[in-house]
Amino acid sequence: MLKKAMYPGSFDPFTNGHLDIVKKSSALFDEVYVIIGVNATKHRSFECDQMVKAIQDTMKDLKLDNVYVMALDGLVAEYAKEHNIQYMIRGLRNNMDYNYEENIAEVNKLINPDMEYIYFRAEEVGLSSSMVKELLWYNQDVSSFLPKAVYKIVKKKS
Ligand code: ADP
Repeated sequence: MLKKAMYPGSFDPFTNGHLDIVKKSSALFDEVYVIIGVNATKHRSFECDQMVKAIQDTMKDLKLDNVYVMALDGLVAEYAKEHNIQYMIRGLRNNMDYNYEENIAEVNKLINPDMEYIYFRAEEVGLSSSMVKELLWYNQDVSSFLPKAVYKIVKKKS
């Protein structure tokens, strides 16, 4: 059976920290699904379809051929169940991330008890989407924190 994993997140924007987790996952699993969770109540800074396209372009540039990128309006744990995705990937930067993840994992377990969680240790522990947004707000250069294709759309907006 193919080992399938999903890596869900807001990715608003997708950073080099996220990319690092995708690279590690791509090497370990047969198929990796990067999923932007769309939530009508949650405001995004960067448009979802554009971000999907920018992440897809990044995967193409890096020849990460087993990574699929999409947006999902719904519960990721349910989507995983429907599509036989057995693993859920998350990245951990610190104990705050860990505590947050444990809460979500508990809820997801109710929806999909068979899903296994895999946590990857972050290399870029200081990097977050919100930090990038804050730097942008102050007109700082954020090019070193983002994949090229993502930087292009971020720059266009700022
Ligand atoms: P969410 O809103 O689901 O937390 P994010 O886009 O902020 O979405 O993050 C998605 C996942 O990536 C989470 O597991 C988060 O801990 C992880 N992550 C965020 N930034 C980094 C980073 N710099 N390095 C590794 N993992 C990260």
